[in-house]
Amino acid sequence: MGCKWSEVRILSPRPFFYSIMKTLLFQEELLDKLNRERMISQLIKNGLLVSEKLIAAMNRIPRHLLVDSALKHKAYDDVHLPIGYEQTISKPSTVAKMTELLQVESCHRVLEIGTGSGYQTAILAELCLKVYSVEWHQQLAKKARNQLFEWGYTTARIENGDGSQGWPDAAPFDRIIVTAGAPVIPENICYQLKTNGIMVVPVGAKKSQELLVIQRFETDDEPVFEISNQGPCEFVDLVGKYGWPGFA
Ligand code: SAH
Repeated sequence: MGCKWSEVRILSPRPFFYSIMKTLLFQEELLDKLNRERMISQLIKNGLLVSEKLIAAMNRIPRHLLVDSALKHKAYDDVHLPIGYEQTISKPSTVAKMTELLQVESCHRVLEIGTGSGYQTAILAELCLKVYSVEWHQQLAKKARNQLFEWGYTTARIENGDGSQGWPDAAPFDRIIVTAGAPVIPENICYQLKTNGIMVVPVGAKKSQELLVIQRFETDDEPVFEISNQGPCEFVDLVGKYGWPGFA
């Protein structure tokens, strides 16, 4: 039996193509979500992820959108990945460990040194009152700023500059996180901590450091810093005035 032209138009490939595309996109989103959940379960199993709020934050942030599309399939593996300018997005286990050590509370103002992809920045924005993040590379700062704005993180301020000098105009901070390896303990930044404030910072040689947690106390009106070593880690160099020389 022959069919009329009007019926043929209804079966034209366009709506069919769109519905296939929609199904594929939905499946891809679902796959990303499942991979993210797998990554989080693994971090919980390894004891690196404990706090409910951090688990919720990591569940919300689409890490795969911060890496090159060619590396998207690795976005939820526990690996650091290139983000351009010889820099990397940190391993999820490192992000989890550092954020747990930071003990961020919802009333905190937090300084982040080394925005990179903005992944850690977005996590901090989920957990605290205000994030001040500084990135050495102008293009990385711009990209992260645009991405976080698109995601609606209005409490994160990202600036391009030398974070090895901290952010004196906005100091003191409740918490400070340094996501690049410093050659020595950055004393100038320690003084930008509030009393009882905590800083997490990798310190040591190029490509291999110790993760330090530094807490500021006050004794007889004098600042006292307590330092604990949380084990070896591997970060790109902190450059700038108080970082590795040759880049100032
Ligand atoms: N948490 C980021 C880590 C990025 S790697 C992420 O997961 O994406 C460390 C970043 O520190 C790099 O982007 C590097 O450019 C930046 N950096 C190094 N020295 C810096 C400095 N003096 N000031 C600001 N950013 C710096």
